[in-house]
Amino acid sequence: MANIPHVVILGGGFGGLSTANELRNSLSTSQVKITIIDKKDWFMVGFAKLWIINGTRTFENSIGSLNELPKKEINFIKDEILAIDLQNRNVKITSQNISYDFLIISMGAILAPQKIPGLIENGFNLYDHNHLSDIHDRLESMESGKIAISIMGMPYKCPPAPFEASLLIDSMLRKRGIRDSVQIDFYSPAPITLPAAGPEVSKQILDLVNSENITFHNSCKIKSVEPKKLIFENSEADFDLLLAVPPHIAPKVIYDSGLAKESGFIPIDRDCKTPFENVFAIGDVTSLSVTKTMAVPKAGVFAEGEGITVAKNIISEIQSKKEFKLFDGKGGCFIESGRDTASILEVDMFSNSKPSTKLTESTSDNLSKKLEFEKERLSKWL
Ligand SMILES: Cc1cc2nc3c(=O)[nH]c(=O)nc-3n(C[C@H](O)[C@H](O)[C@H](O)COP(=O)(O)OP(=O)(O)OC[C@H]3O[C@@H](n4cnc5c(N)ncnc54)[C@H](O)[C@@H]3O)c2cc1C
Repeated sequence: MANIPHVVILGGGFGGLSTANELRNSLSTSQVKITIIDKKDWFMVGFAKLWIINGTRTFENSIGSLNELPKKEINFIKDEILAIDLQNRNVKITSQNISYDFLIISMGAILAPQKIPGLIENGFNLYDHNHLSDIHDRLESMESGKIAISIMGMPYKCPPAPFEASLLIDSMLRKRGIRDSVQIDFYSPAPITLPAAGPEVSKQILDLVNSENITFHNSCKIKSVEPKKLIFENSEADFDLLLAVPPHIAPKVIYDSGLAKESGFIPIDRDCKTPFENVFAIGDVTSLSVTKTMAVPKAGVFAEGEGITVAKNIISEIQSKKEFKLFDGKGGCFIESGRDTASILEVDMFSNSKPSTKLTESTSDNLSKKLEFEKERLSKWL
């Protein structure tokens, strides 16, 4: 190891930013050099995307700049990660090769609409920041018809988010006085609304969307999309406006490096280690099993928690301490009701070795907490 260990972090999202800040808050520049590499130079809290759709936000006033990182003595390189050479401990980007002592892979999940024939031509991607203002404009100009929200692959980021999207869209249409002329249908390949949260919470989410006249269709496995038509394995459905959550995959370099099998994610345990010494993986790019059939959901809070765990263990190693932490699996996701309130889905993935989940009451106080959650992260990380 070189004199000052170099921690290289691939991806400046939830996981990468929490790791870098945790490290820098405990270790000085003479103890560790930290570099974040990301192909884009901005960060946005995922749920702000839904506020761009409902028109309460713009893209520009929802982002923080990664170019602020050097002020905290965290190097930032805006470039594409092309390859990870785990044998020689370096990362290839367009402009150079960067060697590391510790590597944290926090490259997130990639949206893959191309996996569903006809989707790109006939629908919008609910999670793609490039589609958000067009979705907003379409919703603003709609007078009647059918909106389909369709989950097209599992696992996907923030399981409650598409339900929240349906409630915020319902609210937009209600405020425009045209809700009765628009049908909102929700299609999921899962048998219940939120399998990772269990049957009880799933029923509460079902009741919530049903109470706003949004129809949930379960077990709808998508095959393809045609103009104004969804083709499922066992049925078909018409739409005028399609908002899809496409299948998620890992970035290509992850498959090229052999860290994950095709279409899968990097398998980790609660220590977030990979089989390679001092190489860790966190967040959406990983798969962390909780039970035989369930993994930790893809969510920013979990990427953040894993990042802090890894950072603490690296700090401990650099300071030659014997403390070692495991990711605790705790977190909470906000679900806005569209009626100026929010509930919190409180999750403890490893409580007594089985997940426990609870949906709190929907209150205006929780909505304020949601705004505070975003503000806090943008101000403490950037
Ligand atoms: C609509 C919506 C609502 C959400 N709501 C919530 C919520 O309420 N609570 C919550 O906890 N989570 C929420 N999420 C999920 C959350 O945003 C993600 O789970 C989280 O961002 C994952 O963090 P990450 O660090 O693993 O990946 P990301 O934040 O996706 O970061 C990965 C980074 O890697 C970079 N990258 C990838 N490949 C390359 C490459 N080849 N070269 C260079 N850079 C690369 C990307 O540009 C990206 O910046 C929501 C998501 C969406 C879409």
